[in-house]
Amino acid sequence: MNVCGYIPESINEGPGLRAVLFVSGCRHACAGCFNTDSWDFEAGEPFTEELSASILQDIVDNPLLDGVTLCGGDPFFSPEECAAFVRKLRTLCPGKSIWAYTGFTFEALMRQPKLRELAKQCDVIVDGKFQLELRDVSLPFRGSSNQRFIDVSASLERGETVEYVLR
Ligand code: SF4
Repeated sequence: MNVCGYIPESINEGPGLRAVLFVSGCRHACAGCFNTDSWDFEAGEPFTEELSASILQDIVDNPLLDGVTLCGGDPFFSPEECAAFVRKLRTLCPGKSIWAYTGFTFEALMRQPKLRELAKQCDVIVDGKFQLELRDVSLPFRGSSNQRFIDVSASLERGETVEYVLR
């Protein structure tokens, strides 16, 4: 897996102050995609153990962070590597919320074991492809109105998709 960016502090990809990891590679090909450079799975640099450890340490060392967001690209095209990273994150920073952006719907993630496994590690998933005709710049943390915030633990508990309400 490659990563094409890391922002140590951002207020744009979820609530509060968040570290953001951009995972390279996406095959959704949404018209109007904000980051077409990230479609290439070879973009950026390899997510080595050293790089992963250094990003984890950076997150651990920042008490101001509310959480961490995975976006891309689409992290769900690299589910095993991302799940391994998030597991370490959960162990090192149990209080931080984990968000992930994906072009898959939550229901599609639940049908595929490896994608489901990564989804289970997250608190909130912003799901669905970006749809240019539904683009709405007034919406916080999402590009088009079809995209949903999914409350993962509530969805797994109830066995149905539960949307997360932004506070
Ligand atoms: S899922 Fe995201 S990165 Fe992939 S094509 Fe759509 S908007 Fe771009």
